[in-house]
Amino acid sequence: MSKTTVPAIAGWYTMDAGNPHLIGTRCKECGSYFFPKLTTYCRNPACDSDEFEEVQLSNRGHVWSYTNASYKPPEPFIAADPFVPYAIAAVRLDHEKMIVLGQVVEGIGVENLKVGQEMRLVLETLHEDGDQTKVIWKWKPV
Ligand SMILES: [Zn+2]
Repeated sequence: MSKTTVPAIAGWYTMDAGNPHLIGTRCKECGSYFFPKLTTYCRNPACDSDEFEEVQLSNRGHVWSYTNASYKPPEPFIAADPFVPYAIAAVRLDHEKMIVLGQVVEGIGVENLKVGQEMRLVLETLHEDGDQTKVIWKWKPV
């Protein structure tokens, strides 16, 4: 049986496997970017706008910081069993200059990361659920 590939979190990223983008919002008044999408009011203290446009964020950036996750996170996180430690990178997006956290792809640990290195956004399987393969965004060294 072939599985359908679906986003683990609907509406947070495009499903273009070769060139995925996170989906955020941009304030129409001050131009600030937000991820996840913001629809209430602008978080810029100097701005009182509540109008946003949906935008695809840059899918490249540079490592701002990183760490490793050596313990299984609590529910609702669905971890591999047995749990496999993974790295988490805080990546500063090239255009928006905002920092987005994400897991680093399988097989790349903190020993392979350094501040300033270029990363790109990819989609990787989070888990299998019935006839669906659920994918999440991750960061991959360029
Ligand atoms: Zn604003």
